[in-house]
Amino acid sequence: MLSLDEFKTSLTLPSPLIPFKPNWEGASKVSLYVKRDDAIHPVMSGNKWRKLSHALTSPLPNHVISFGGGFSNHLHALGFACYKLGIPFTAIIRGDYSAAPSPMIKDLMQWQTRIEYVNRITYNKRNDSTYLDELKLEFPNAIIIPEGGSQALALQGIKDMVDEIEVDFDFIVAPVASGATLAGIINALNKRNSLMATDFRSHYKAIGIGVLKGEGYLEGLVEQFLTTSSQTHWHIDHSYHFGGYAKAPSELQTFCSDFNNTMEFEIEPVYSGKAFWAVKDMLAKGKFEDGSRIVVLHTGGLQGAR
Ligand SMILES: *Cc1c(COP(=O)(O)O)cnc(C)c1O
Repeated sequence: MLSLDEFKTSLTLPSPLIPFKPNWEGASKVSLYVKRDDAIHPVMSGNKWRKLSHALTSPLPNHVISFGGGFSNHLHALGFACYKLGIPFTAIIRGDYSAAPSPMIKDLMQWQTRIEYVNRITYNKRNDSTYLDELKLEFPNAIIIPEGGSQALALQGIKDMVDEIEVDFDFIVAPVASGATLAGIINALNKRNSLMATDFRSHYKAIGIGVLKGEGYLEGLVEQFLTTSSQTHWHIDHSYHFGGYAKAPSELQTFCSDFNNTMEFEIEPVYSGKAFWAVKDMLAKGKFEDGSRIVVLHTGGLQGAR
């Protein structure tokens, strides 16, 4: 078992920011960087640690409960952290994987997670106050963390990531599912933008890449996390979901395997593969002005691809 300080020492923080020079059409006209949150830890997925870092503070909780699907990067990251920190952890998982546990669930079992499989109807109540009140009665010492770790506290951890970026930039590009990561980026950039002149060109901007079919829906999720309602300086591009969440047609899979064979870091098709494909496509279509400085956030997630 580790103390919180020892645990944090085992993480690569600040995560590396590396220049990225692919031989893609249009890439030489801009400056590209990758914020390597995938490198924070070999087991824990990048943005999931960011979203949890302000929930797991001293004094540590006596028990943690959270929710996710059978391949959830969030449950994986949280299960690992709880195991290392000696915090009892209950994972409420959508669907019954008892006959055929996924690699993620096998890891949780090894990390002494208490696993509860629930059906879709129960799972869909995961944000209902009556259901959560029942859980609190049953487990009075527990903190309950929402699916994906996506709660207001998560935005502070994402801001820490933005604050680590030491080069000047115009855009941050990041994949979007629950919206908390993009909301954290927007909040952090809003703070910077409010200190700047009114010239629009000079502002920091966030571009989300929707990884699921959710035009309008994803914007709503993001806005629900934002402290100031600000529709400027960010948008979500919905052209790169490839048919839906975790849908990976062969051209996307080929893109990821070619990428992994030639680049110095790896991507997977659910999140980072769609984000990097999007950047490549936007560059080819001239969506960025010449000279733009673009930071692509690598959110991690390679465990989910197993
Ligand atoms: C969960 C996850 C995301 C999506 O982040 P949200 O905050 O839910 O939008 C992106 N990338 C990876 C690797 C993830 O695990």
